[in-house]
Amino acid sequence: MENDKISLVTEDGLRVDGRKLDELRPVKIEVGVLANADGSAFIQQGKSKLLVAVYGPRELHPRHLALPDKALIRCRYHMAPFSVEERKSPAPSRREIELSKIIREALEPAILVDRFPRTSIDIFIEVLEADGGTRCAAVTAASVALAHAGIPMRDLVAACAVGKVDGKIVVDLCDAEDKYGEVDMPVAYMPNKKVVTLLQMDGILTREEFDEAFKKAISACEKIYEFQLNALKKHLSIIEEVKEEESNG
Ligand code: ADP
Repeated sequence: MENDKISLVTEDGLRVDGRKLDELRPVKIEVGVLANADGSAFIQQGKSKLLVAVYGPRELHPRHLALPDKALIRCRYHMAPFSVEERKSPAPSRREIELSKIIREALEPAILVDRFPRTSIDIFIEVLEADGGTRCAAVTAASVALAHAGIPMRDLVAACAVGKVDGKIVVDLCDAEDKYGEVDMPVAYMPNKKVVTLLQMDGILTREEFDEAFKKAISACEKIYEFQLNALKKHLSIIEEVKEEESNG
């Protein structure tokens, strides 16, 4: 009998894009990519590409939204019409409104909001190309852009999805695995504070599977954190080099 189920993991334990079960997609993070924002970052994780711009802390309009004891964080996650195969309407969808909220909630615990009462911190996320894991890539890049804007933070927030595909726990799902796999579980984590700021689960895992998936998610976030740190360090060293060149005339 012909098996019409799509196979996502080979007998040798390789995934649709040739990765091992625990392997992240290649991650590239660039800091300070936009001239007109206070902070910015670009992330490419596999084929997913996102740009993040941060403004603030700045005067808040409309004023009546101001919070007397802390900064108001506003976040917009938006997918460009060309980010998916079939042109997406530029109008915000329910999914984008929901993701804007959960990304904001994943970042807020890291930000020292009480230092900037009555101001706003605005985070704009533009998905340029989507191939799974965009909410996690958004959290990862946004926390780098917040650091680049000089906003005081308790820690960076690193994020990565894990899931279950063909009965196996896998790390950093691509779009095909997200669509045809059994479970998708995005996790955001502050590696130094050891605090989870986002945990969602689409699908069902046994207790043992959850424990394995959660452990792998934390370890993936720790790896993502290294990419974030390296990107920020690289940016700082470029600034130092430019300053040195300028002072040498
Ligand atoms: P995440 O990107 O965080 O995994 P979802 O699980 O909701 O978020 O979406 C998974 C993937 O589905 C996205 O990364 C994208 O590749 C695809 N996708 C989402 N919305 C659309 C859309 N409107 N049209 C086509 N593909 C989409």
